[in-house]
Amino acid sequence: MGVRRTIGVAAAVAMGLVLAACSSSSTKTYFETEGLRAPDQSCPVKPSRLGIAERLKKIDEGNGCYVPDPWRISTVGDVRLSQPATLNCGMAEPLSDWLENTVQPEARRAFGEEVVAIEVAASYSCRPRNNKRGAKMSEHGYGNAIDISGFTLASGRKVTVLDGWRGSRDERRFLDKVHGEACGEFHTVLGPKADRAHRNHFHLDLQNRRNGSTYCR
Ligand SMILES: [Zn+2]
Repeated sequence: MGVRRTIGVAAAVAMGLVLAACSSSSTKTYFETEGLRAPDQSCPVKPSRLGIAERLKKIDEGNGCYVPDPWRISTVGDVRLSQPATLNCGMAEPLSDWLENTVQPEARRAFGEEVVAIEVAASYSCRPRNNKRGAKMSEHGYGNAIDISGFTLASGRKVTVLDGWRGSRDERRFLDKVHGEACGEFHTVLGPKADRAHRNHFHLDLQNRRNGSTYCR
């Protein structure tokens, strides 16, 4: 009993340190929010109409990280997310359109089978871009971005951005196509061509730019 209590106290102290580290790294001094605009609150199609999703309470960490209409999304159509993604409402529809209109047709063409799951590396996260101290806040801080590191096919085969981008011909073609076609559906699309930070995932976001332009690399 005494031993268990000691372990409990040690764990609590360790947790406290971890929590302190997390909260200090998300204070405003670690990223800039100037010029950024929060995501649109309008959401014509609810994520729960596109798959399994539940509405969450508004997220506002008080330092710029803010999600006006957050949802916990587990599936989009027939495609399972490897871990539920916390995203602003408006992300669900482009994700659904991209999966249905690009990812599935390209998977059938390249592999003769469909994608049943996507590997979600990140969704809502209150942090600077590329985790670089002093950089602008990432769109992840608005719940307005998702990082996808791979695709699981019906047979169980996994196609990852890290290995497939320079992998076999069918994987290269598939990844190049789904990366390229995400541009427009999403406002920012980053992959291995962008920089080293994106060598192992696609970053897709709906950055609310004043001029409505896209940035895809
Ligand atoms: Zn990202």
